[in-house]
Amino acid sequence: MTRCFECTKNGDKHHIIHKEEGGLEYPLNTLYLCEEHHRGPTGPHKDPVKDRQYKKALYDALASLFTKEHYEIQDIRTMAKLSSSLARTLRKTLKRQKEGYRTMDILDFLMSGYQLQDEELDIPVFEED
Ligand SMILES: [Zn+2]
Ligand SMILES: [Zn+2]
Repeated sequence: MTRCFECTKNGDKHHIIHKEEGGLEYPLNTLYLCEEHHRGPTGPHKDPVKDRQYKKALYDALASLFTKEHYEIQDIRTMAKLSSSLARTLRKTLKRQKEGYRTMDILDFLMSGYQLQDEELDIPVFEED
């Protein structure tokens, strides 16, 4: 049994980027929520503000994980705890630069293309080389 993220009750698995939004199956995209905090009026399926908070938190978690400009597939897989099939999909979907996969592409993939609003973003600034 996994406890609800918001209280002490038992929780069910919620996908932060919802399955219907193309949300992927990896640990950071999932959260355990009890019936009330999941499907109730203050839960992410009914309250768009709550939903965006979880999505922003996911983005922040990913952005603090991927701090370099490029990564290799094996690093991405380990860091985001991706299954081998999801890692394979990422490899097929993203274009690898000569330095590796670009972090902005990785985040976009892991967020399933979900766009945060501008004011929610801390866009990382990379030096041009
Ligand atoms: Zn709860
Ligand atoms: Zn859910």
